[in-house]
Amino acid sequence: MAKKSDAKRKKIEKEIEAIRRKIMEFDLVCPGTLTERYNTCGNPNCRCARDPSARHGPYYDWTRREKGRFVHTLMSPAQADEIERAIANHKKVLELLAEWRRKSAQLILDKKRRK
Ligand SMILES: [Zn+2]
Repeated sequence: MAKKSDAKRKKIEKEIEAIRRKIMEFDLVCPGTLTERYNTCGNPNCRCARDPSARHGPYYDWTRREKGRFVHTLMSPAQADEIERAIANHKKVLELLAEWRRKSAQLILDKKRRK
């Protein structure tokens, strides 16, 4: 019985180690969303005033929550590429973190039951 339980524990410990290794591989992580926008400039003589396809842009707007408030930042195309990747990384890290939490609880609860 104890041996079987130890094997299970070892397996979970190995899975946690794999999660930690994966998380270590990410360089940039950012929360939020990136939106591509096309705007009118307000000049009534500009083509953008009548033609929606002549609007200016794209502008890249990075939106995220900071201290409970939404914060917007205009990004250059190069920054937008990096932020897009960082947002995708952040999502993956959150998924891995959720898995890490589940497995941590599994280990702790399993130990308690055995005593
Ligand atoms: Zn315009």
